[in-house]
Amino acid sequence: MSTTDKLIELSERRSAHNYHPLPVVIRTARGAWVTDVEGKRYLDCLAGYSSLNFGHGNEEILAAAREQLDRLTLTSRAFFHDQFAEFCAGLADLTGKDMILPMNTGAEAVETAIKVARKWGYEVKGVAPDQANIIVMEDNFHGRTTTIISFSTDPVAHDNFGPYTPGFRVVKYGSADAIAQAIDENTVAVLLEPIQGEAGVLLPPDGYLRQVRQLCSERNVLFIADEIQSGLGRTGETFATDHEGVVPDMYILGKALGGGVVPVSAVAADTDVLGVIQPGQHGSTFGGNPLACAVGSAVVKMLGTGEYQARAKSLGETLRRRLTELVGHGVIAVRCRGLWAGIDIDPSIANGRQVCEALMRRGVLAKDTHGSTIRLAPPIVISEDDLNWAVDQLAEALREL
Ligand code: PLP
Repeated sequence: MSTTDKLIELSERRSAHNYHPLPVVIRTARGAWVTDVEGKRYLDCLAGYSSLNFGHGNEEILAAAREQLDRLTLTSRAFFHDQFAEFCAGLADLTGKDMILPMNTGAEAVETAIKVARKWGYEVKGVAPDQANIIVMEDNFHGRTTTIISFSTDPVAHDNFGPYTPGFRVVKYGSADAIAQAIDENTVAVLLEPIQGEAGVLLPPDGYLRQVRQLCSERNVLFIADEIQSGLGRTGETFATDHEGVVPDMYILGKALGGGVVPVSAVAADTDVLGVIQPGQHGSTFGGNPLACAVGSAVVKMLGTGEYQARAKSLGETLRRRLTELVGHGVIAVRCRGLWAGIDIDPSIANGRQVCEALMRRGVLAKDTHGSTIRLAPPIVISEDDLNWAVDQLAEALREL
């Protein structure tokens, strides 16, 4: 039995089957490339669902982490530590918001945003006790907690986990009219992904985010943008909402904020919103810990130069051009924004999983989402040659299937 087979067999036997990974066991990685336990190299075109925007083993991030590991890793929020202020101030400046509430995982940050919006509704907007509602979108993905999956429209994520948290109204993604109709006097927020990642990199119609912004302002409702996957450089701008020049009331950030090293998430908002949270009302033992803040500060500094956003934009043009050439050759449709692509495979040729397995055999790691869609989101540090090579492999894989 190969090392790969042994490790997969043990994993399958001794861990819950909540994922269906491709059969590769990775041991090391640098930049956009990973190496498995057999010594075979693969180009990483998933980048930890956009957590590795800055590449594996990014020296600037690793240096910040190493330096911090040797000094101080955890205090809890019972005390201040010397990395906290810089991280919060830096991220607040990057988002243009007054303040930050740091957490760890994306789902925790989404939960935080929901709690803040409800509290804002009761204490600032004047919504009657326990009547708050939040408008969310069909085919959303915001994480896996019980409250979040309560408003998931994906039966696999949702079913048999009830009883569910009430207070959410699901409307069609991309329709500002649907939001307008769903808003009532108890609506405290509209929560959406500016690009729906897990749904297949679904781009909203042009002008949609601007309409949502306007509606929320007119109706005194908070606009919450879940930029956990779309934010921090991936789309060629710092935030996906930047493409329409829109500023939400709350940003939810995660994934790449931890530089691919530690889980770091946060909610960013102005004082009139985040100020509703008082001591004891929300928290996390690990949220805002010294290691997370040191890494997060390195990430914020790297994004401050605009270099990664510009790179994602220019490589994104190559990706779009190359993928568009595949339409009609095994590909039905392609959606790209920056270095992020959703590719609908012709289901008569293969499903997404089969394409990803064929890509893996050719040395490219990607992941399917929802049947026949695959997503490409390589680290932004990928070279143009490697990016072209990955698309070549996709073209070849589609030809051979
Ligand atoms: N929100 C969005 C848009 C995501 O894409 C994800 C993860 O894929 C999450 C929230 C949940 O983040 P986490 O897995 O860190 O809890």
